Amino acid sequence: MDLQLTGRRILITGASSGIGLATARLLAEEGATLALCARDESRLRCATADLAATTDVVYASCDVTDRSSVDAFVDAAVQGLGGLDGVVCNAGRSLMRTLDETTDDEIRDEFDLKIFGVLNVIRAARPALAKSDAGAVVVVNAILSRQPELRLAVTAAARAGLLNLSRSLAGEYAADGIRVNSVLLGLIDTGQWQRRFTESGSDDFAAWSAEIAHDRGIALGRFGTADELAFPVTTLLSPRNSYMTGAALDVGGGVHRYV
Ligand code: NDP
Repeated sequence: MDLQLTGRRILITGASSGIGLATARLLAEEGATLALCARDESRLRCATADLAATTDVVYASCDVTDRSSVDAFVDAAVQGLGGLDGVVCNAGRSLMRTLDETTDDEIRDEFDLKIFGVLNVIRAARPALAKSDAGAVVVVNAILSRQPELRLAVTAAARAGLLNLSRSLAGEYAADGIRVNSVLLGLIDTGQWQRRFTESGSDDFAAWSAEIAHDRGIALGRFGTADELAFPVTTLLSPRNSYMTGAALDVGGGVHRYV
């Protein structure tokens, strides 16, 4: 099936690793041109060096919580690609602590990242997306937004706010023909989990992750891969998905316990 993404101009935040990187690769295969950011630009360029040989790529070092940094990145993307058709708000991490272990400043930072890390990008991109005939935004969020877990209370609360906000954005941005949808992740084997695995002292990722998958009740019994997330993100950007907005797609291997 042709997803009609050839020549589409897509901006991705947090593209140097994990889901952002896998999505950039799949979109390049589909013929899209790309604007990619992360805070560490040299790691970003290194991880995506092969993509620049196959499609047009604009790179920037950008912290999504810093509005002026985001404005500069979006400007560079619009100039470099000649406009924008899609945005993937993916940059982020989670804060694995109990509430008692978390300081007020850490709580504020987490809300800053989850809310402004998305809002800054979407607001800056709106004028360019409004000029597209198929403007689309995908917000990478988590099942945690609907189903809190122990030791992830602050991230879960921020994620819940982001899910609610994304629904409002879908309503407001429909006036400009821009669709806004969310992908809700479960446990995906990316940089975040590789770092936790290293810290765990275990030397067998398969056994370590299978135990976590079992404890969390993932129906498919394993972590997902970044490639398994890149596909739903990419299809939500496709102009063929033209009647879908304000939706939240669960991609968690059956970890959710709500209906
Ligand atoms: P990775 O750690 O593999 O990648 C995170 C990416 O985001 C990197 O490119 C990182 O680069 C970038 N990044 C982090 N903070 C910022 C920032 N402030 N500004 C700009 N870029 C930033 O993570 P994943 O691929 O696993 O995660 C992608 C998204 O999915 C995140 O929002 C995460 O919270 C969410 N998620 C992941 C889950 C999982 O199980 N993996 C579960 C639920 C949600 P750099 O450090 O150089 O900035």
